This record gives sequence, structure tokens and C-alpha cells, in this order.
Amino acid sequence: MIANAKQLPVEYNDGFPEGVYGALWRSGNAFGIIVSNECPTAGHRRFTLAHELGHYHLDGHVEQLFRGGDGLAPSLAGHFRGRKDPIEVEADAFAGELLVPTPFARSLLDGPSVGMRGVLRLRDAFDVSLSCAAIRYAQLADEPLVVVLSKDGVVEWTARSEALWAQGGWARRPWKQEWVPRRSGTRRLAGDAARRRTGADDSSELLACEWCEGAPPSAVAVEEAIGLGIFDRILTILRFPDLPDPDTAYLLAEREEREAREARDGSGRRGDWRTGLRTYGFDSTDD
Ligand SMILES: [Zn+2]
Repeated sequence: MIANAKQLPVEYNDGFPEGVYGALWRSGNAFGIIVSNECPTAGHRRFTLAHELGHYHLDGHVEQLFRGGDGLAPSLAGHFRGRKDPIEVEADAFAGELLVPTPFARSLLDGPSVGMRGVLRLRDAFDVSLSCAAIRYAQLADEPLVVVLSKDGVVEWTARSEALWAQGGWARRPWKQEWVPRRSGTRRLAGDAARRRTGADDSSELLACEWCEGAPPSAVAVEEAIGLGIFDRILTILRFPDLPDPDTAYLLAEREEREAREARDGSGRRGDWRTGLRTYGFDSTDD
């Protein structure tokens, strides 16, 4: 409907290469979208369509995808893999905002710590996949939390709330390819195919440092996990209800960073311009 309003034809088709669910085509000034019939769910199909609309509408995407010529620009599979290409990240963000608009979503997330209940509410209200709903939840939440997608107990990607990111240091470390804790609900579901595939849930309350190395020693991580059915993956929400407020956390992280640096340099030297970059975590290791 959204696409038709813009005179952009949408087709559903077979025969896409593996891992590709959508594409934008160009022929002169005409554009169109093709979505694969192999999208496993309606939510996935809607996300794919919205993602391609993003490429059509966002500044610079058409130019970059077609380089002035005609052709077909396929997009690699949606939100089950960490994306690196900036235009793919932008198109995903566009899709998330289009399908789960901020003001309406916020009204469904009212009240503190709604957790998985809030994610399910978003999924049902906007008819999107659980993972899309969870990413939007992470983007909109005011509290420190992270959404983790894992398969067989190994993390595939994470989405952190701004309030968690603001904790600095440990909270920004990449988790990809790491094991989830042995005592977690996520690990229990990973070991139980029948429950995982029927969308069963599990939960735990562990120390934050069992999930994230370097987290404050007494902080708690409240976990809610749910099986993603046919995707054979597990979606987990971790909330950290008793972390220090971000300003304090930031100062603590900065002090830790400085002390580590001084210990490393052995000289306690100050004023190195590069330290600012390190403090803000702009390294290239987080994928
Ligand atoms: Zn794309």
C-alpha cells in the first residue's frame, strides 16, 4: 500500500539467490521492488519491502546502488546478520521506523521495564517479526538493556539501548561469536530443540558479569528469552536494573581507561590526542 501510493510497482517472485529476499530495480527513471516468495513469514516480507523502500527514498542510495546505470540491486538477508554497509544499516533503520513508528511504539512501551511483554506488544500491534520489534524496543527504551540474537548458544548479533551504551567500556564490547552463560534461559532453550521451535520462553536472573565481562561486580542481569520457531534461533532481552546512572558510569569508565593506559605506558603520561578516540570507543572491532 505504501509502495503503491508512490507509484512504485512491487512484485513477488521466486528464484532469488540464497540469502537474498529483496531487490530494487531501475530502468531509466522507472523503479520497482521485487520481494522473494521465500520470505519465511509475513513480518519478514514486510520488513524486506520496507527496506527496499528505504533504498528508493533515502538520499544517495539509488546513486550508490546503480551508479548511474540500469539494473537490479539485490539486498542480502534482513536482520539476522550484523550489517556493515552503511546504506544497508540506513535502509534497515528506515524500515524499522516505517513499520514501527516511534510515537505509536512509545505509547505501547509506557511504564518502566516492560521487557519481553513490550516487544510482544510491538510485534502484535505492527505485525512485524519479533526481532524487528525487539530492535525497535532497544532503540526506544530509556533503560540499559540489550537484545541478543543467538543460535546454538552463540551470539549472532546484539542491539543495545542508548542507556546501556552510555555505560561505556564493558557495555560497548562486541559479543559476536561468544557463548551465552551456561546458567541462562537462553542456553537452556538452545539445548532443547522442541521447546525452542515452538516459541517457548525461559528466563533467569544472573550477575551482569556472567553475561558481559567487565560489568560492575554486583550488577544484576534480568534475562527473558524466547524461541524464534522456524528460524531456530533465540531472542533474548537482558535488562540491567541496578547500574549506576550514565554520568557516574561514564566517569568510572574514563577513570578505568586512564588507569589502564597509565599502567600500560608505565609513565602516567597525559595529553595524548589519541586517548579521546579510545575513550569514545571508535575502534573498528565492533561489528
Ligand atoms: Zn538493502
